[in-house]
Amino acid sequence: MVVESSTHKFPSHVFNMLETMEHEQVVFIHDAELGLRGIIGIHDTTLGPALGGCRIWQYASESDALWDVLRLSRGMTYKSSISGINLGGGKAVIMANPDIRRDEKFWRRYGQFVEGLNGRYITAEDVGTSTEVMRHVMKETKYVTGKPVEAGGAGDPSPFTAYGVYLGIKASVKHAYGRDTLGGVKVAVQGVGHVGYYLVERLTREGARVFAADIKPQHLDRVVKEFNAIPVDADEIYDTDADVYAPCALGATVNDDTIQRLKCQIIAGAANNQLADENRHGQWLKEKGILYAPDFLINAGGVINCYRELHQLTENETMQLIEAIYDRTLQVYHLAAEQNVTTHEAAMHIARERIRKAKATHQNTTSL
Ligand code: NAD
Repeated sequence: MVVESSTHKFPSHVFNMLETMEHEQVVFIHDAELGLRGIIGIHDTTLGPALGGCRIWQYASESDALWDVLRLSRGMTYKSSISGINLGGGKAVIMANPDIRRDEKFWRRYGQFVEGLNGRYITAEDVGTSTEVMRHVMKETKYVTGKPVEAGGAGDPSPFTAYGVYLGIKASVKHAYGRDTLGGVKVAVQGVGHVGYYLVERLTREGARVFAADIKPQHLDRVVKEFNAIPVDADEIYDTDADVYAPCALGATVNDDTIQRLKCQIIAGAANNQLADENRHGQWLKEKGILYAPDFLINAGGVINCYRELHQLTENETMQLIEAIYDRTLQVYHLAAEQNVTTHEAAMHIARERIRKAKATHQNTTSL
């Protein structure tokens, strides 16, 4: 049979991409009637099933969606690894407008696709999805976390993520200034949505001076009113005279343009993939003397909360896992200084080593 080459546009080197990103499996999911078009990325399952949220986003192209799911699922592998939890890295993206509400049927269909992977991928909430969405998903699959509390879940992960980011900021301030408290430290928080809100609460409670920016006026007003945060125009957050820049909105905000503008000593926030180019921008920050707290290390509170839901951990056990972020951040800074590498590279080294050792143990056990 002759298969005619397709005229449809798609990345022509999918397997090269999988090889570069070191993915185990990528699954395309589709239901024409429901308008469901998505991709599930399973990066590495050495440490456990691949867990990661489901993002709904209007991508400019299919290749953008594929690239995003590969990047995000890979990030989840290293996030779980460096956090010491037994999970692999996964993520799902659905190509659609996140502002349109989707009904139970849509999310149950998504749940059926997740169930079909038989536990290799465990879903959760992410940009455009919520604990309410997971309430529908859980009707079709047990491989779901981030369920509402009344449905037996661990609920909104944002306060836990914010707690980890707060500890990452504290460790960074300790390393940069030798200080144990945040009293008087100036922090510029970009994005005061779910995580940013709780972060501002913790920072101000400890006496930090918080500058906040958000493109949604109602989010900005809330932190101004409740915590006396100083409002800053969204475009001007990079130019703020602050000690810490905390990106809690979007990825890739540390880039060619912004690094030249930043006046801070520390970058530590919740957003995933903050460095537009991990290597080049990591190196540039190092040369500029700006301390960068690796995002996947300090924003792991949310995934740790999902882990708690899966393994029925107590509140105390969960908090201990999150509180380890403080020491681990310091450990990364020491390793980076000792090896003369960027903090991102040092964190990646620790995460990869744990996976390498687990693989070696697994191979030794299976060859016995
Ligand atoms: P969110 O959507 O609730 O909040 C993001 C906020 O950023 C919104 O208020 C939005 O209006 C604002 N924003 C968007 N673009 C902006 C811009 N250009 N300038 C200023 N503000 C802008 O999201 P969230 O759950 O708080 O997550 C924040 C970031 O942290 C995301 O990148 C997310 O991927 C990451 N993250 C979140 C969690 C979690 O537990 N929610 C866990 C790990 C990582």
